Amino acid sequence: MTAALCAAALACSTQAAPPRLPAGPPDPPARFAARVTPVPQEKLGASHRAGCPVPPERLRLVRMNHWGFDGRAHVGEMVVHENAVDPVLHVFQRAFEARFPIRRMRVMAEYRDDAQAMADDNTSAFNCRPVTGDPRRLSRHAWGDAVDINPVENPYVDVNGIVHPPAARTHLRRSPSRPGQIHPDDAVAAAFRRVGWQWGGRWANPDYQHFSANGE
Ligand SMILES: [Zn+2]
Repeated sequence: MTAALCAAALACSTQAAPPRLPAGPPDPPARFAARVTPVPQEKLGASHRAGCPVPPERLRLVRMNHWGFDGRAHVGEMVVHENAVDPVLHVFQRAFEARFPIRRMRVMAEYRDDAQAMADDNTSAFNCRPVTGDPRRLSRHAWGDAVDINPVENPYVDVNGIVHPPAARTHLRRSPSRPGQIHPDDAVAAAFRRVGWQWGGRWANPDYQHFSANGE
């Protein structure tokens, strides 16, 4: 059996392991892993409804591991447009390799609304909703090809100058850099550039948490 198979099976490790393993959780996975499936209805919840621009069949549920602020690997879930699967996997693989910390990654169905998700520092993509602070316009998140990362560390300043979420105010200060913040030259921003997505951090009303395929 090859070493790779051995590692995957785990069964081989019992003989090689020392007789007494220290108590505690297992080591986090050293490599990025992801699984892509259709989206079960319960993972959409109220984030999708009749009249939304993308039908559920064109959305995908991505389950992937990411580093947390606790220095450990976690499994997250994100709903994206089918065309956004490859770029999103590229970006979050690079984020994982760079050990970029992500607070949590849950589907929007677990939240009452986007304000609650932002306050919870949740990283997410698809959500059929209007632009925050501009209810007449549909957010690019309604298409599933926009991603928000660590909203508390990466605030959004809307057209009225209001900071979302409120707890993110201290993160309007971008220097010196703090963990989970996105900066133009870091691994996350570089990975999004590589796949051709644009960053809201460059807008006149900055949206530091926001990346999208078409720049909206
Ligand atoms: Zn956004």
